[in-house]
Amino acid sequence: MTNANFYRLFEPWVQLKPSGVVFELDNGEMLTREWLHALSGRYAKALLQSGCSAGDRIAVQLEKSAHAFALYLACLRAGLCYLPINTAYRAAELGYLLEDAQPAIFFRGLSAEALAAEIVPATTKAFTFGPQGEGTFVPLVEAVDPAFSTIEVSGTVPAALLYTSGTTGRPKGALISHGALSYSARTLSELWGFSSSDVLLHTLPIFHSHGLFISFNVALASGARLLLQSKFDAADVVKALPRSTVFMGVPTFYHRLLTSPLLDSDLCRRVRLFVSGSAHLSADVHRKFEARTGHRILERYGSTEAMILCSNPLEGERRPNSVGLPIPGVDLRIAGDGDEILPTGNIGMIQARGPGLFSGYWNMPDQTRNEFAADGFFRTGDLGFMDSQGYVSITGRAKDLIISGGYNVYPAEIEAVIDEMPSVQESAVVGAPHADFGECVIAFVIPSDKGLPPAASEVVQRVKDRLANYKVPKQVIVVDELPRNTMGKVMKNELRTSLADRSGAVVKAAQ
Ligand code: AMP
Repeated sequence: MTNANFYRLFEPWVQLKPSGVVFELDNGEMLTREWLHALSGRYAKALLQSGCSAGDRIAVQLEKSAHAFALYLACLRAGLCYLPINTAYRAAELGYLLEDAQPAIFFRGLSAEALAAEIVPATTKAFTFGPQGEGTFVPLVEAVDPAFSTIEVSGTVPAALLYTSGTTGRPKGALISHGALSYSARTLSELWGFSSSDVLLHTLPIFHSHGLFISFNVALASGARLLLQSKFDAADVVKALPRSTVFMGVPTFYHRLLTSPLLDSDLCRRVRLFVSGSAHLSADVHRKFEARTGHRILERYGSTEAMILCSNPLEGERRPNSVGLPIPGVDLRIAGDGDEILPTGNIGMIQARGPGLFSGYWNMPDQTRNEFAADGFFRTGDLGFMDSQGYVSITGRAKDLIISGGYNVYPAEIEAVIDEMPSVQESAVVGAPHADFGECVIAFVIPSDKGLPPAASEVVQRVKDRLANYKVPKQVIVVDELPRNTMGKVMKNELRTSLADRSGAVVKAAQ
């Protein structure tokens, strides 16, 4: 068997130039490939010697650090299954994940809040792990002899268990194989023109596929250097951009960067690529960013389960309001309710098949079966269409779909129209129960200038001028901000819930 362990993509870079820098930290410290290789090997050995065996889950709720990356690679190298947990999760959310995943080990930060004993399953060993690797894991690491050879695995062996960030319902654990990680890293490295001379400015969290698999893995497999920032902060990003060649972010990051007066083409002189994903990038931000920096942001689309499906091209037209073309190896179709392929341009469920897909939901065989069509296509839950040139656009989530008077209404279409108003910074459209129509359209709007919000009638007129009457909002609600999860996605279920207890802030649209 050839060793399909994802880590094998990094080993040649270590051999080629052990002194090559892999991490540059906030404080200017440089860490080499050899450092990462040696430390991840020691950690891997300590994990195995602590009694873990193939397939065991290793749960990790840690702030981002070079040592935390080494721990992630250690799990992969040891053939264990890495389970990153959102650092914002509190006891109840954490308890659910640990109970569901039954990890062999659980790593937590040194200053993490105390947990009731029943939160951690009896069979799970808990260790503390600080940003320098300090904590209760240290004695195990110090006891091992450092020589370690990466464990041989086949491509189907699970490398990670990632719980969907879940804007609705309970999180589900998606099993991601070594083969899926390797395929995605190789394909994106090539598609986005990565090389060992790249410097990736990394500000994303690492408990999510975007920061871990799309950003870190691609840079690692390309022998690139990472400028590690513990979290996104527009001022810190502005400082580091002149030394960076690639930046990856969620749309909120780009929106915040635009508020910096220092953002201009000179600041971005070394950057060759800005990538956005995880949520819809508004055409307005796309245009403003280009006007300020000369860069057209490359928008791409993926998910925890599907890793990455579409990307705008590196060379060629990067279109606002489109997530681009299916990446090599991905079979993508727009399907109707019976999984049948719809004609070009029609809106339907985005379904995909390919080597980057997850292998199934942890302990949920029925759910896994339900999410796949008979011929192996994954039903992403996203609605969209493909144009005659193969560009894909997302129009909303299937469960976001509003059905008003029997007509299908796609929130993203209305949001795009409202977002074009200069007085609007951003909008989010949801459905609300309506006696006559079943559901009606409600628009939440963040004004560009809080002192000068748009009148509800203006918003309504705007939509009336451009879209069919049944898409016109019945209410326009001005808000200061939209509820978002940690990946910047608007939590529409919260907006729906908030409708029930709003009164003062509601501006009734004159219909
Ligand atoms: P997650 O599993 O947290 O990565 O969320 C995946 C979901 O985020 C997808 O199913 C889409 O609904 C959404 N998403 C990801 N990328 C984009 C994008 N470029 N535009 C619009 N929605 C996106």
